[in-house]
Amino acid sequence: MADIIDEANQEYDQHLTAAIANRAKPLPLSPICRNGDCGEPSVGKTSYCCSECCADHQKEMWAASQRKLA
Ligand SMILES: [Zn+2]
Repeated sequence: MADIIDEANQEYDQHLTAAIANRAKPLPLSPICRNGDCGEPSVGKTSYCCSECCADHQKEMWAASQRKLA
């Protein structure tokens, strides 16, 4: 009987993982600042060590998206 429960749990886990993977989501928070090779630990619920790095990286991503469109 335990096998059936294990199988059910496994299937449930797979569905859950797939559902999470398929969900359109923003970039997950990074524990390390995303700005270039800054390498500083991020603060709070951000992916950056400071607001300057955040602004820099946003600009960089925007520029990259513009290049992709062109
Ligand atoms: Zn930084």
